[in-house]
Amino acid sequence: MTKPGKRIAIVCGTCGSDAVSRDAWADWDTGKQEWVLGAVFDYGHCHKCDCEASLLEVELKQAVTE
Ligand SMILES: [Zn+2]
Repeated sequence: MTKPGKRIAIVCGTCGSDAVSRDAWADWDTGKQEWVLGAVFDYGHCHKCDCEASLLEVELKQAVTE
């Protein structure tokens, strides 16, 4: 989804955790036989704060493996 060489993290604007989710629709694709990401909405949720959070996009300086 991102260009090679640029990696980003999405973090909670309150606590900085990357355990965040975004409200979205998953649409069933009959051809692929799987759910595919459809619309992505503005609502962000932090699992650490366990509440609504403003999500920040942070560019990573170096490659990070999960
Ligand atoms: Zn948080």
